[in-house]
Amino acid sequence: MMRLAHILDGLRCSGCGALDVLWLDPVRGIVECHECGEKASVMVDGLGPADLLDPVGSWDGDR
Ligand SMILES: [Zn+2]
Repeated sequence: MMRLAHILDGLRCSGCGALDVLWLDPVRGIVECHECGEKASVMVDGLGPADLLDPVGSWDGDR
């Protein structure tokens, strides 16, 4: 099974406090920490997780 995961640069895990260890799994709509295994849902009502990866999103718009 192919698994697409995107590392979330600059984000800190709320569980263990490690930086740059959070991965976004757009297939399952969760963020998972590689250090402690903490998981968080990123599903938004009416929007798929792909919306969070929009390259023209405001948080990434000045690159
Ligand atoms: Zn963690």
